[in-house]
Amino acid sequence: MSEEAKNPITEKIESTKGGHFYKEIMKDFRIKESLHGCLNCGTCVANCPAAAFYDYSPREVCQMMIEGDEETIEEYMKSKIWNCAQCFSCKYRCPKENSAADIVMTMREIAVREGLAAEALAGYTRIAKLVLTRGNQLAPDMLSPDAFPDWGPRMIELSSKKMEMREELFKGFPGMNVVDRAWAAEDFTIYEMQRIWEESGALEKVGTVFPFLVDIVQDDMEDKKEEMEARIEEKKAKLAAAGK
Ligand code: SF4
Ligand code: SF4
Repeated sequence: MSEEAKNPITEKIESTKGGHFYKEIMKDFRIKESLHGCLNCGTCVANCPAAAFYDYSPREVCQMMIEGDEETIEEYMKSKIWNCAQCFSCKYRCPKENSAADIVMTMREIAVREGLAAEALAGYTRIAKLVLTRGNQLAPDMLSPDAFPDWGPRMIELSSKKMEMREELFKGFPGMNVVDRAWAAEDFTIYEMQRIWEESGALEKVGTVFPFLVDIVQDDMEDKKEEMEARIEEKKAKLAAAGK
């Protein structure tokens, strides 16, 4: 078996720096592929949509991990990393083949695990609830003039006709004739998805950020359980009868 490829930058950093969050990030397998030293050239920033709108910079993310200052890392995990759109433009343009996108992805996972993400994600509660109980995230109802006071009169008029417009646009697609979610996923699909989250431990992780949502999802599952479990048994019986 060939020896694992070494990355002199991450190895040097690992051997010389040391706060808890820093170590947790550096331990992740993605970091060796994502950090190879930084020229400070700013190419990643020039292409980063998040840097255009927020106080955020992929160059700073890479520099921060090279410097390894624990306080700065903790601060980023609580706030700035949540501005990244995970578009990966930085990864494919960096002359040193760094990937702020992967570093941010790793930091987010650790921030959730370590209980640092709750404040930054509080604004996403409604979206998280929709994903966990309906299977999709953005509902036309969320785009209303109340939420966007700068909309002009034409958008306000169109917004009042959302349901009629969707019925017209999606004739023959009954799942799309809704405005309280993006589309109506079948109850069985949602139940299967919720079971996967529960059994894989993902729901427990969600609970570290949105504790009350775990109860909501479990109540939702309990309401459907009898009917859905009967359907699962029915499916199993059909597969068994077909010899699969
Ligand atoms: S992945 Fe994040 S950091 Fe990289 S360019 Fe996209 S928004 Fe910016
Ligand atoms: S593009 Fe790469 S080398 Fe240039 S500033 Fe960004 S991370 Fe550093």
